Amino acid sequence: MRRTLRQLTGAELSGRRVLVRVDYNVPLAEGGVRDLTRIQASLPTLEYLIERDARPVLLSHLGRPGGSPDPNCSLEPVAEALAAASGRKVRFIGGPADSAAALEASHELRPGEILLLENTRFLRGETSNDEDLSRRLARLGELFVNDAFGTAHRAHASTVGVATRLKPAVAGLLIELELAALDRLRGEIERPFVVALGGAKIGDKIQLLEEFLGRADRILIGGAMANTFLRARGEAMGASLVEDDALATARANLDRAGQRIELPVDLVVSADREAGEDAHVVASSEVPPGTAALDIGPQTRERFRRAVLQARTFFWNGPMGLFEIEPFAVGTNALARAAAEATAGGAFTVVGGGDSASAIREAGLADAVSHVSTGGGAALEYLAHGSLPGIEALDEA
Ligand code: ADP
Ligand code: MG
Repeated sequence: MRRTLRQLTGAELSGRRVLVRVDYNVPLAEGGVRDLTRIQASLPTLEYLIERDARPVLLSHLGRPGGSPDPNCSLEPVAEALAAASGRKVRFIGGPADSAAALEASHELRPGEILLLENTRFLRGETSNDEDLSRRLARLGELFVNDAFGTAHRAHASTVGVATRLKPAVAGLLIELELAALDRLRGEIERPFVVALGGAKIGDKIQLLEEFLGRADRILIGGAMANTFLRARGEAMGASLVEDDALATARANLDRAGQRIELPVDLVVSADREAGEDAHVVASSEVPPGTAALDIGPQTRERFRRAVLQARTFFWNGPMGLFEIEPFAVGTNALARAAAEATAGGAFTVVGGGDSASAIREAGLADAVSHVSTGGGAALEYLAHGSLPGIEALDEA
């Protein structure tokens, strides 16, 4: 067990600058925040701090800018969305999070206000957990709260590096809540345990699949993840998104647990990713050259639905298709409805991942499942190993 924010006394918080690592890696559209899930999920910790006269200084990453500033990945629109969601004054510093200006702003922050610093992945040394960067970031607060569940599987400067240098270092309310739901999946579960995996971050997640093979009764695979598996099985996938680096692992997983893994039997393909004008259904062995598989087909939807309805325990990460474009959201929405139906029938259901959470929210079903996790890769890794680097680095309870 790790020490949590709620275990700190009022005196430890009052008047202090508290450096909080949040996960505001949110989807942006036309300069605005497209999904507020992660922003709203951070509010309980921020309110808890403000009510105790602490002054929150927030660090987050957004996207993969690769160690240098990229205006498309600025947190500025997030600052606006945070101000609206929290009703608090949010100060935003556009320069580097480890700059003298950022440090000064942390000291000038007044009670009741929140300071958000610019994207940590603009900084060289963030993803390599650089010592000097960690030390500079650690000066931004008198104590550290990690509430970035979605990033807790990364040993970066703003997650692990800071936690080892700035003490006390404790878990925030979101991380506490997330671990409670995931611990339930790690404990004695009711079977069948059905897992659905999709999305596009294949390399990251496929490694963890192996850990699931021992525990899950059925594994349903859709999204671009399925393209990689189908390719590994020998299908020609046309212009579909396939992660070549992950083919060997996919093959190994199929060899080990072929019967428990269910791949799509049909797919929605299109040569038009923007609008899906020519979207049509084909068998998964017959993806035409030049077209891409962008959603699961109707037969697969029905199979997956039945599998989910049989589950007593269900975990889902990763959309079943390119759900941001309406014609390719059908499979994802169908799975969301099946999850809601299973929950109504008494199953314990967890949906995790930035895009997955966004999808289930857009389908209006976030409250119809047992828990929506803000983490995808982090949730998978915690389910597989029972620990995450960003959590291990915090103080022991
Ligand atoms: P999460 O954020 O829930 O962990 P990922 O980030 O792994 O999920 O994947 C989400 C992304 O995967 C979405 O942007 C979605 O459009 C994309 N995606 C899913 N299926 C496909 C597909 N068949 N082809 C291209 N992109 C896909
Ligand atoms: Mg994602």
